[in-house]
Amino acid sequence: YTAKGKRIGYTVFDHSQDSTDPRKLTLASDLRQGIEQDQLVLHYQPKVDTRTGKVLGAEALVRWQHPEHGLIPPTEFIPLAEHTGLITPLTRFVLDTALRQCQEWLRDGHELSVAVNVSTHRLLDLDFPAEVADRLQYWQLPAHLLTVEITESAIMTDPDRALHVVQQLHALGVHLSIDDFGTGYSSMAYLKTLPVHELKIDRTFVGSMTTSDRDAVIVRSTAELGRNLGLRVIAEGVEDMATWQVLDAAGCDALQGYYISRPVTADAFATWLRHQRGAPAAIAP
Ligand code: C2E
Ligand code: MG
Ligand code: MG
Ligand code: MG
Repeated sequence: YTAKGKRIGYTVFDHSQDSTDPRKLTLASDLRQGIEQDQLVLHYQPKVDTRTGKVLGAEALVRWQHPEHGLIPPTEFIPLAEHTGLITPLTRFVLDTALRQCQEWLRDGHELSVAVNVSTHRLLDLDFPAEVADRLQYWQLPAHLLTVEITESAIMTDPDRALHVVQQLHALGVHLSIDDFGTGYSSMAYLKTLPVHELKIDRTFVGSMTTSDRDAVIVRSTAELGRNLGLRVIAEGVEDMATWQVLDAAGCDALQGYYISRPVTADAFATWLRHQRGAPAAIAP
């Protein structure tokens, strides 16, 4: 990335598993430094009620403000963080920052839940639930205001271990969401064993549901599946009003997408919240 944010490289990260790749080593030490020097930032994207447009909470999405390369998206460094073990301090930063933000919203009179993405390495760490419990207590937050988003593929890496961790998070009162639902190699069997609260339909289906009958059928069936299992169904990647309307008709409970808001800084999110207040009907279809 140049100073102007133009991409000039850095797509090499996760092509090689070889930890002796010198470029990767540089980036890994950059990332270690970046975490220590507070170069990571969270952006927040609202989750809204499909019916009313009312904001329910927000998903925290990490970005890396690199001193030379500009703002780097998570898809470019999360895999590296997973391979190098830096995902542990990274996830700790995300958890702490998101919970502090949730506490701030609460103080400002908004009871909003905050969702964090948790990738394979942390999901399969038997110590992770204790870390979450510790941070919730530190920030004095009720556990139900935290949602942990996990993917089917992370679960399927080691289903027994994942189940164990998820059960402990559930016992704390934390909400669980299955992210990118429908894209992973997975088994329906885990849906009946995992104590999950939410299914998040992947944006690859949502984005094309107004133009592809097949994608529309997948979204409708997933919404029905979730409903019949007593889960909240949320759609990601809503980019226009037509999609919102179709999701409403499909019985999808909540939605997220650029049409409502892009992921934005905490300050921009606060401004967005002020504009929402008292006017949900104005943005509902
Ligand atoms: P995800 O959790 O499925 O997040 C949704 C992604 O879709 C985000 O990309 C978001 O900016 C993007 N998005 C939201 N609405 C729309 C829309 O209407 N249209 C389109 N085209 N895209 C939309 P982002 O922020 O680049 O994050 C990508 C992925 O990186 C996330 O996918 C998640 O898997 C991972 N990630 C992000 N933050 C974290 C984190 O703190 N920890 C971990 N482990 N992974 C993270
Ligand atoms: Mg997510
Ligand atoms: Mg997703
Ligand atoms: Mg995704």
